Amino acid sequence: MESDIMNIKIERVENSRIQEVDFENIPFGKEFADHMFVADYKDGKWGDFRIIPYGGMAFYPAMLGLHYGQTIFEGMKAYRNTSGEIMMFRPIDNFNRLNRSAERMCMPTIPVDLMMEALRELIKIDEDWVPKNQDAALYIRPFMFATDEFLGVKPSEKYRCVIFTGPVGPYYTTPLKVMVEDHYTRAAKGGTGSAKAGGNYGGALYPTKLAQQKGYHQILWTDSFEHKYIEESGTMNVMFQIGDALVTPPTGDTILQGITRDSVLKLAADIGIEVDERRISVDEIKQAYESGQLKDAFGVGTAATIAPIELIGYQGEDMMLPPVSERQLSKRISEGLKEIRYGKVEDRFGWMVSMN
Ligand SMILES: *Cc1c(COP(=O)(O)O)cnc(C)c1O
Repeated sequence: MESDIMNIKIERVENSRIQEVDFENIPFGKEFADHMFVADYKDGKWGDFRIIPYGGMAFYPAMLGLHYGQTIFEGMKAYRNTSGEIMMFRPIDNFNRLNRSAERMCMPTIPVDLMMEALRELIKIDEDWVPKNQDAALYIRPFMFATDEFLGVKPSEKYRCVIFTGPVGPYYTTPLKVMVEDHYTRAAKGGTGSAKAGGNYGGALYPTKLAQQKGYHQILWTDSFEHKYIEESGTMNVMFQIGDALVTPPTGDTILQGITRDSVLKLAADIGIEVDERRISVDEIKQAYESGQLKDAFGVGTAATIAPIELIGYQGEDMMLPPVSERQLSKRISEGLKEIRYGKVEDRFGWMVSMN
């Protein structure tokens, strides 16, 4: 499925909506930039590449993607560095993961160089939408869905891939209260948990709503088999500081391979923090808490970056973690990532890709 020389048709908006956006005060996920990239897959290949005004799309009620869940997505960010250049954080890893999700969901892969070229064009056209203030970024949402009109349960033969973007501020603005989930399951062994597939998120809404009714923000998921081992929190990977070590569960088919997670582990090891990827039981967390060794806990993901966890609820009792202002480890990592993203230090890992 090689792309020939990519020919993107471009239709620009007549009037930009950018004046309507308050860049000093951007909420998460409510503002969308002027344009989007669209590609269609049929007869075994991708084509009809176009950049058009962001807006509605027509579809038929029998469209497969709406019925049986062949829909996958990615989430990534573009930053404006201190010299004004637009930089992406590890975008190739995101497009590779989109293709892994595609394979799991019986959807066609899409060449990474094609996606990178499309993204470059899109960002060039909407470059004014990349925020200039720190702590803000242009969020980028590539996604793909099945477009056949057919009612049988089978892989679609036609698909659409879209990339749209929008300026975002912080995802969470306060430290998180999370609840250990010991009944519902996000992902099971052999399931689709390691794919960014729509159904995983739909299925998580109800248990999350129940946790929110009890006063928590998010769920701390445990394994589906015994509900004994920690997996992820909401749509973030999760990390703990136990004693001096940074501990996080290994990824697998129930834990998404987060790019932020991987970056945090590499950065932590680089600055001399002991990193330990292993299963962590809820009991271990409880014991570490009781002995005063549980010093820090936080979620990691593109949208939230590093989201400190304030308390962990388990079977009706809350474990209060040390005040966020006293947490040295996550602060160092968070600052370290920020310095790389905004180009304040040398990018010694080769993570940043210039979009100019
Ligand atoms: C997207 C996602 C993450 C975070 O991945 P990043 O690549 O760091 O953004 C973690 N867990 C789940 C379930 C996710 O969907």
